[in-house]
Amino acid sequence: MSDLHDKTVTELAAALRARQVSSVELTQALLERVTRHQGALNAFITISAEGALLEAARADARLGANDAGPLTGVPMAHKDLFCTRGEKTTCGSRMLADFVSPYDATVVERLRAAGVVMLGKTNMDEFAMGSSNETSFFGPVKNPWDPARVPGGSSGGSAAAVAARLVPAATGTDTGGSIRQPAALCGVTGLKPTYGRVSRYGMVAFASSLDQAGLITRSAADAALLLGAIAGFDERDSTSVELPVPDYSAALEQPLKGLKIGVLKEFFDTGLDPAIEQHIRAALELLRSQGALIKDVSLPNLPLSVPTYYVVAPAECSSNLARFDGVRYGYRCKKPTDLLDLYLRSRGEGFGAEVKRRIMTGTYVLSAGYYDAFYLKAQRVRQLISNDFERAFHEVDVVIGPTTPTAAFELGAKTADPVTMYLNDIYTIGANLAGLPAISLPCGLTQGLPAALQIIGPHFGEERLLNVAHRYQLETDWHRRAPPGFA
Ligand code: GLN
Repeated sequence: MSDLHDKTVTELAAALRARQVSSVELTQALLERVTRHQGALNAFITISAEGALLEAARADARLGANDAGPLTGVPMAHKDLFCTRGEKTTCGSRMLADFVSPYDATVVERLRAAGVVMLGKTNMDEFAMGSSNETSFFGPVKNPWDPARVPGGSSGGSAAAVAARLVPAATGTDTGGSIRQPAALCGVTGLKPTYGRVSRYGMVAFASSLDQAGLITRSAADAALLLGAIAGFDERDSTSVELPVPDYSAALEQPLKGLKIGVLKEFFDTGLDPAIEQHIRAALELLRSQGALIKDVSLPNLPLSVPTYYVVAPAECSSNLARFDGVRYGYRCKKPTDLLDLYLRSRGEGFGAEVKRRIMTGTYVLSAGYYDAFYLKAQRVRQLISNDFERAFHEVDVVIGPTTPTAAFELGAKTADPVTMYLNDIYTIGANLAGLPAISLPCGLTQGLPAALQIIGPHFGEERLLNVAHRYQLETDWHRRAPPGFA
């Protein structure tokens, strides 16, 4: 079979079951691609050739014995903050550069049980803090559409790998946009599920009330298939929700007639690239022609989401990252003189600049005297933003807007000014603050770079999001376009 690398998960699953290709052949072909493009893209931190081939052989045995599920033998990669037994989990940090987890994250465990083959661990912003993948200790990832540009972050390695056809799908995590934003900048599909829909167990914590595991794929249909495998209650994560997991693939084709779509007024007000706006308006027209009803909705508190997030997320990170103390695991400085020196130098040498900035901001907003002025106020505004969304979902079924204000920017363009970098998350953060599911889809090209639209739904509304996304992808081919040189 040719063009294996260009096939979606759904297509590969069918080819494996029809024995048109074996999992070992597929794994070898993709490993060769991963290795060939590693120098140019830096999408991976660990390439797990040996483990992958063993898993593939096991998958082939299951396929041969008719003991296979729909994902058996399909290769994937994991963002390097999902714990994986036997392979490093670095979180893109010097702090964990040599850390090997003794257990699998629930997401990894479920995909392994489904027979998915793990090709490796993808590069990311350090501890998932970033919007450009430039904070990784292992160097930046390059955008396959233009290697002088960023892939977005923090799941930039996953998005670049899926866009460059190195893997058909990869996991990601989204605390303030880290699945949707890199998916948008790399021209692939990124799904952030509802908070609580997918277990966070074994996902190294950044900001626990916002972090959510999800998927980067080349189609909404693939995201549906994979979400079914990773979603569901996990007693090891007390915030995972005990709700049955629907058959996401079954609802994909549902007609859009009568669907009420809200166009998010605030998302079109501020600094949106006109070329991206045009592509989104065209997408809305297409959805209207399929019977959807389009109306404007306003979420007046949404413009406060960036400052709110940049209080809440650093506060939680300052607490979560306190565990990296040079004692239990992770980086330890050389020859500490006493306990305090051990703490200070291990953390000082182990963490990069952005992580330190967040820890300091977080510690400040939580400190006595400032707690009420910053942290408590941010929590209140967070509630107002949630209420805005809730009101909107009384009127419409989903809301649509852009994922990012611009297409991929040049490497280094925003590294000198953290606030400019943070503003890149302006359209994605709202869904995290409110715990809502959201999906980003490619909807055009502007000067040769992908543009994306975002669909946000009510809690546990993944079926509807995937349905709208799939119907859009049935009528368009933006998601089928490969970056030049990677087809
Ligand atoms: N870019 C945002 C940040 O830097 C979001 C990151 C994320 O979703 N992990 O915090």
